Amino acid sequence: MALTPQSSDAANRVLIAGAGPVGLTAALNLARRGIAVTVLEAGNKIFDDPRAGTIHPPTLEMFAESGVTDAMLARGYIVRNYQYRDRRAGVVADFDLGALADDTPYPYRLMLEQHKICAILLDKLKQYPHCEVLMEHRVASAAQDRDGVVATVETPQGPATFRGGWMIGCDGGRSQVRKSMAVDFSGFTYEERFLILSTRYDFAPHGYALTNYIADPDEWCALFKVPGHDERGDDKQGVWRVVFPVDAHSPAEEIFEERAVQRRIQNFHHKDGDYDVVHRNLYSVHQRVASCYRDGRLLLAGDAAHINNPLGGMGMNFGFHDAFNLSDKLARIILENASDNGLDLYDRQRRTVAQEYLQRQTIENKQNIEQKDPREREKFHDELRAIAADRVRLRAYLLRVAMIEGIRRANAIE
Ligand SMILES: Cc1cc2nc3c(=O)[nH]c(=O)nc-3n(C[C@H](O)[C@H](O)[C@H](O)COP(=O)(O)OP(=O)(O)OC[C@H]3O[C@@H](n4cnc5c(N)ncnc54)[C@H](O)[C@@H]3O)c2cc1C
Repeated sequence: MALTPQSSDAANRVLIAGAGPVGLTAALNLARRGIAVTVLEAGNKIFDDPRAGTIHPPTLEMFAESGVTDAMLARGYIVRNYQYRDRRAGVVADFDLGALADDTPYPYRLMLEQHKICAILLDKLKQYPHCEVLMEHRVASAAQDRDGVVATVETPQGPATFRGGWMIGCDGGRSQVRKSMAVDFSGFTYEERFLILSTRYDFAPHGYALTNYIADPDEWCALFKVPGHDERGDDKQGVWRVVFPVDAHSPAEEIFEERAVQRRIQNFHHKDGDYDVVHRNLYSVHQRVASCYRDGRLLLAGDAAHINNPLGGMGMNFGFHDAFNLSDKLARIILENASDNGLDLYDRQRRTVAQEYLQRQTIENKQNIEQKDPREREKFHDELRAIAADRVRLRAYLLRVAMIEGIRRANAIE
């Protein structure tokens, strides 16, 4: 087994497993402060399959200082209002995010695909020679002693070990780092899977906002527009993604079959002729939180620490917020000799809000959108109508769903 040179900075180097949005954010925050970072990524490139695409106001605030926000704003779509709809009755409530104008400089959502955010982060990282991003480096396990951590890594040249002072597992829902820690990942997996169909067909002339949640007792859906891309990069026309729940047991080939895809999307919104479906993706959805985000020098952030359904567009944002919180605390330990109790505080702050807020909100979002009891559904829709019509209630509601409340709650935990 090859051993990477025992560099003199190993004691303060931070190893990060995973070059997804959360790992790259942690890397950038640490590298900007002059801290040595090694990012170990299993893949040979950043995945560009359709995943998260919604960026909430606190995330835009956090990224402003590094210039990432401006780069994202230049490429994404600003969503100033979004709709909650009933599939049969139409618009239930139209939420004006402008009600947050006194709470954030970014009173809107930004739609930009996850892989483009990763590309922006990777580009920013190039200016920091003390940060290396190593592709095709799969972390097999992580171990620690009093002075540091050792990651065992599979590389194209064979197994290797990497040493550092700390390791952050940002290696997604199946995190190897988490499996190397003494923590559980309990919760549940939904029986149905989620299907994402992407089409260039423009839904805007039919009155849809750029983001729509569409309730239905039989087949709810979510519809939103992202910038889209082709081989040349951004595509001005944009792409609409339609998300449907699908039966747990149907084979993927049946779900993806062209006639079945056309039928499903035509049932949602009938149009003459076939839809131009440019991408189809099927995935399982879980609600889980790690029992602890810290085991000594091993830490978790992002999907490695918590996973949830995508209704509300919160998972990736929540991971960004973990990365900012954790990198601030690690930087204080490394640069100012602060006590490592800060890492326990990170666990308390971020794990508490993952339970109280991320899990609760996303589980409720799914229950509401699929509500089968007509009285319960109408009650909820009346509630949304009343909220949207009352500026004070609207602000309070948006503070929660735009993730501002979760940040305030986390910061209040000591
Ligand atoms: C199909 C799909 C749709 C989604 N839609 C939404 C949405 O609409 N809104 C939303 O907010 N969220 C959504 N999510 C969730 C969102 O994509 C995640 O919350 C986000 O990707 C988390 O980022 P991350 O960096 O923590 O993990 P990931 O993006 O999973 O990145 C982990 C990285 O670690 C790498 N890796 C894995 N194992 C190892 C290893 N052993 N060693 C080294 N590297 C490793 C992976 O290759 C990957 O690059 C969706 C997820 C999926 C799968």
